Formats: sequence, structure tokens, C-alpha cells
Amino acid sequence: MDEQNIDDLKKEQGKGTNTPPKPFNTWAYLIPLILFMGLYFFTNRDYAVEVTWNKFKREMLTSGDVDRLTVVNKERVEVFLKENKLSQEKYKDVNEFSNTSGPHYFFLIGSIESFESKMEEAQQDLPASEYIEVKYVSRTDWFDNILTVIFPFALIFLFWFLLIGRMGKGAGGKSMFNFGKTTARYRDANSQQQQVSFDDVAGLDEAKAEVKEIVDFLKNPERYTHLGAKIPKGVILVGPPGTGKTLLVKAVAGESKVPFFSISGSEFVEMFVGVGASRVRDLFNKAKAKAPCIVFIDEIDAIGRSRGNAKAFQSNDERENTLNQLLTEMDGFSSNSGVIVIAATNRADMLDRALIRPGRFDRHIYLELPNRTERRAIFNVHLKPLKLSSDLDVDFLAAQTPGFSGADIANVCNEAALIAARNNKESIDKEDFVSAMDRIIGGLEKKSKVISPKERKIVAHHEGGHAVVSWMLKNADPLVKVSIIPRGKSLGAAWYLPEEHQIYTKSQFEDQMCIALGGRAAEELIFNEVSSGALDDLEKVTKLAHTLVAYYGLNEVIGNLSYFDSTGENDRFLGKPYSEDTAQLIDREVRKLIEKMYSRTLEILQKNEGKLIALAKELLRKETLYKNDLEQILGKRKKKENFETVPEPKI
Ligand code: ATP
Repeated sequence: MDEQNIDDLKKEQGKGTNTPPKPFNTWAYLIPLILFMGLYFFTNRDYAVEVTWNKFKREMLTSGDVDRLTVVNKERVEVFLKENKLSQEKYKDVNEFSNTSGPHYFFLIGSIESFESKMEEAQQDLPASEYIEVKYVSRTDWFDNILTVIFPFALIFLFWFLLIGRMGKGAGGKSMFNFGKTTARYRDANSQQQQVSFDDVAGLDEAKAEVKEIVDFLKNPERYTHLGAKIPKGVILVGPPGTGKTLLVKAVAGESKVPFFSISGSEFVEMFVGVGASRVRDLFNKAKAKAPCIVFIDEIDAIGRSRGNAKAFQSNDERENTLNQLLTEMDGFSSNSGVIVIAATNRADMLDRALIRPGRFDRHIYLELPNRTERRAIFNVHLKPLKLSSDLDVDFLAAQTPGFSGADIANVCNEAALIAARNNKESIDKEDFVSAMDRIIGGLEKKSKVISPKERKIVAHHEGGHAVVSWMLKNADPLVKVSIIPRGKSLGAAWYLPEEHQIYTKSQFEDQMCIALGGRAAEELIFNEVSSGALDDLEKVTKLAHTLVAYYGLNEVIGNLSYFDSTGENDRFLGKPYSEDTAQLIDREVRKLIEKMYSRTLEILQKNEGKLIALAKELLRKETLYKNDLEQILGKRKKKENFETVPEPKI
């Protein structure tokens, strides 16, 4: 990779005026410390041997061997023996390193008074002229003092230093001296790094056309400015995760051949006040110096979230300061200065209005999940480096992956290659891709999960219920396979081949609800008792029914009203845009709709009970049933136009 931090770049160019001094060279601090401690220990080493009072009195004092005593700090008595007595056998424990002048022994005392009275008592038989001389001294151990004073400060300093260093590095900076500096990665226009081109971005034709224009702005600004047009300052890419926003910006950078700064929104945010704003300033100063150039801010919602949120407890002053600085900077450079800011986010609805107004982010490019043709193109890009079997049909792969993002498709290709390698295959075939897709949709197969025979029976009827209902309904997507092998968290699953719709009719929604309720209805029909296995289905059905009633205006009682709020403002004010009566009405209608669909589902299953039982039996035997097996049990599925309308049950 050729990307580098901006400060590294400045250093290289000899402009590194703000390059911080190396803050912490461990040896520079450790060596003097070791020397200092060594010196202390060798000069101040205490060679005196400790004795008890009794031994001192019996062996030294009474035999007249003691020359003098020194009482240090009123607690320690040092014994100096007469030089000519030292050679005696009993003093052989006096350390050989001890200098002959002493002290040779020491003992500790409780108090001066008791020591003096004991001494007097011990020497009472001696003539006064032979009394041992006792000196009182006060001694301070400077090393000890230094340690007690300096050590706590040193410890705090060290802790602080490590903390700051770590935080600086955590944010991508180098140390505390770089706190206010931007952590953006920089890529030079002439970088030799392998660059992404527009050919690497499949599909996204409209988005590509928009961003290609940006490349042109940067390459030939005069073409636009001589007509008086202003070059956009900012472009914001909005779309679900994995739809290729970052990839597209990389392609812009690769094709435009201009300096490129990239940073993530979260890198501005630090726990210290003012750091985010100063990083924004620094980034724009550097970008202006390099103009024409591109600044890419990924995940801009980390700083660009709308200010003045009513949920005050969530507000974050530091983030607001950072955003204000960004707003100021984007106003600050003229549209012809040649800095174009590209931002990407998954949550455009969260962004502050001031940020996305024309004059700042003038252009909004929406990326959608790819349609079938685009998926085919994305597959083609990611299949290129793989060793494929000759009969692999890319169309089949594109058809099997509705709702997949570009990132999901890249993942499927990689997973398929891994699965083929695991099975020691020479090339990757359709089967590997199907396994990879199943794995990504449903999670890993868990054949080893222990399930009791009774539970297996329930799961088989539950999945059979979904399958039978979907087989009998006009608006159901074609069923591909049903399985009772546990995967991820679920104990079984049914795979459909969804058709892509831009809009859904009421009857399509209702059929979807019936299919989801098929599992629970089958349990009730066969076992006369329902289980907890329908949690996911019920969650899906409840959400769908609520959407139908409250958002899509598909309920006769509520009428043509929608309480959907595309601005997200309702969430902020913690309230609902309707009265308590309407809330109750919505609840009632949601409940009524689900009950109606449940009765309809139950009716379908009652009519086909024999088929349901046969299907469950076959599932228990084979674990996974494909379309052919299903056709044998359920008969060929009717063509759409041959379905008669199922009469709606009366509630
Ligand atoms: P997020 O919002 O989560 O950051 P994103 O939209 O920025 O996601 P990218 O990082 O651009 O997504 O895409 C992830 C990966 O998906 C890419 O590295 C690429 O392999 C693949 N991909 C996505 N879209 C496409 C596409 N249109 N063509 C080819 N590959 C794609």
C-alpha cells in the first residue's frame, strides 16, 4: 500500500515543522535510573550484623570489647568494637566487607529511656572511667526521601504518558503531540499503488455517470467555469451497507489522478474537547494546500448527525463542535478552489440539514441494492480471479441472490471457493455456490445439534406447513427447497426464489403473511398444540401487518392515511403523530388482519392435510427436499394465471 499518514508525508517533504520530538525513549530514562540505584546501594550498603540486646550485653559489653555506641534516630544502636578484639573467633560473623572502623553490629531499641536504664544497669559494676561512650545522631536517608516524594509523581506521570500515547495511537495519530492533527490517509496523485478503476465497479451505472463528472471537474475545471458554472463542493453517497460506496470513491480517486485524502467520520471524534474541530481544520488546510484534490469522509453520520436533538441526554457537545467546524470549512473554500469533499453514509436521514444543503453537499447520489442484471455484472467482476467449472451459469447465480449487496456477492464467491477447496475440488462448481449462498442466508449447517425425535417431528410439520401454504397461494415466490437441518439459530428453513418487485399489492402482502403463518397453523392442525418455534414468523407477520395498516394505507378502516415519517423527526420527539384512539384502532386492525390471515392459512392446510402429513414424513426421512420431491408429493404447482382467488374467510 502506498497510503500514508499526512505527517509522514510532510516529514518526507522536509516540511515537518510540527513533527513532535520522540517522546519516550525508554533507555534514556532507564540507564541513569539504574546507575543511580547502583551507586546508592554500593555506597550506602549496611554491613553491620544485627544482634540481640542480651547477646550484646553478654558477649561484647561485659567482656570489654565495645569501643563506642552510636544511637541513630533514637531507634537504632550501632556497635563499634575495639579493633584489637575483632580477630576473636566469636566475631567471625562480622562481614568481611565491613571496614574495620565499624559499625560492626547493631540492634534496635524501643525508646532512649529504656536503653539508657539498661545500659546503666549493665555497667553499674564498672568504674565510671570505663563507661562506654554513647553518641546520639540524627541521620536522614536522602534516597528514601527521594523515593517517597518522587515515586508517586513518577507513577502518575508514567500512567498518564502511557494513556495519552495509547489514545493518540488509537485514533491513528502518533502521540499526544499529534492530537489536534488530522489522521487522514493520503495518497499522492502519482502513487504507484494499484488503483481501482471504474471497470472494477459493476452495475451502478447512474452513480458512475455522476461521479465520472466529478473526475472531469477536477481534470478540466475551465470547461465548466468559463461558462460561469460553479464546481460542486461536496458529493454525498447514500446507500445500504455493502452497495459499493467506498469502492466507487476509490475508483474516482484512481481515475482522477489527483491527491486523495481519506478519513472515517469517527476518527474526528475524541474524548477531549476541541480535538475534532481542530482535526477538521487541519484536514482542510492540508487539502487546500494540495488542491485540486479529493477529500473522502466515510461514515459521515458519526459527526454529521443532526444537532439539537430533543433527546438531550444523547447530545454530544464535542460532536456538535466538530460538525460546526465542518460546516464552516465547507463554506470557507470557494467552489473553484479544487477541493471536492465526497462523503458516504448508510443513514442520510440522520444527517444535519445544514450539512446536506446545496453549497455544501450539493450532489446526493443514492445507491440501491443491485437488481438482477447488476448482480450478474458484480458476479462477473468477482468470478474473474476464480477457477470455475465450465458449466457454471452466472444467470442462475444472479437469479438466486435477490436482496444481496455487492459485498454479499463478493462474500458468496469467496465462500464458494473456500468450500470447493475444502472438498479438494479442481474447480468451483454450482453446488459450491449453492452451499455458499445457503450458508450466508441461513448460517452454517449444524447437523450435530441434538434434537429430540418429538422436536424433529414438530419442525418437519412446521416447515411442511410453510411449504404447503406457499405451494397453494398465487402470490408466493417459487419454493426451491425445504430442510429440517438446523442452521444458525433456526431448526429448519424453506428457500424461495423471490421475484423482484418495486411495489407490492395488498394480496401479495396477505399471501406473504399466510406463508409465514403456515408453520404455526400446521402445528395447531396436527398436534392441537402450538410451540415457541414460530417466534421469527410471528415477528415478521406482526411487523408486516403494522406496516400495512399504519404506513401503506392498505386498511379500509384506517383509510388512506400513512403515519410513516421519512424525516425521522417523530422518533426524536418521542411521540406518535396520532391520537390514543387511532393507536388503539391501529392495534385492533393489526390484530384483526393477522387473525384473518391465520384462519385463511388454517383453512388451506385443512384442505391439504394429507399432503402436509406426507411432506412432513418425507422431510423426516430425507431431511432436505428439493423442487422435484415437492412436486411428487404436492403435484405440479399451478401457473399464476390458473390460480383461483381463495375466498376470504368471514370473521
Ligand atoms: P459500508 O456502507 O458498509 O461502508 P460500502 O457501500 O462502502 O459499505 P464497499 O466497501 O464499497 O461498500 O463494498 C464492499 C465490497 O463489496 C467491495 O470491496 C467489493 O468487493 C464489493 N462490491 C460492492 N459493490 C460492488 C460493485 N458494484 N461492483 C463490484 N464489487 C462490489
